[in-house]
Amino acid sequence: MEEIKRLLLEEKAALLADIREKTGKQNKTHSDIGDAIDSSVEEQERELELLLQDREQARLKGIENALQRMESDDFGYCEECGEDISKKRLLAVPLTRMCINCQSTEERSRLAQNVFSRADYTSQVLSDE
Ligand SMILES: [Zn+2]
Repeated sequence: MEEIKRLLLEEKAALLADIREKTGKQNKTHSDIGDAIDSSVEEQERELELLLQDREQARLKGIENALQRMESDDFGYCEECGEDISKKRLLAVPLTRMCINCQSTEERSRLAQNVFSRADYTSQVLSDE
């Protein structure tokens, strides 16, 4: 488990550094820009940046959450069936909350749902004609 914790801490540090670097760059860009750059381009870039930041923040939150669960000894169990998640899986995807069995069951049912809604849609289109 220590191995996974180290992995998470490393990723957290990397993410924090990344976010900090971006925020710093963003501020710098702003003071340098003036009126020279088309504001709509600037706007788009800022939106993209914010979107990326959102994703990074979400990931950071996930890591912190996992670390917290590790502290309270609640880490590494499947949320669906309560079984231990294999260490190999945790090393590959430390933020996962499901064991491989439940994950694949869920993916299968999601896939089935997609197929079903597609079939539904097709039949609707056909009945319209
Ligand atoms: Zn499970």
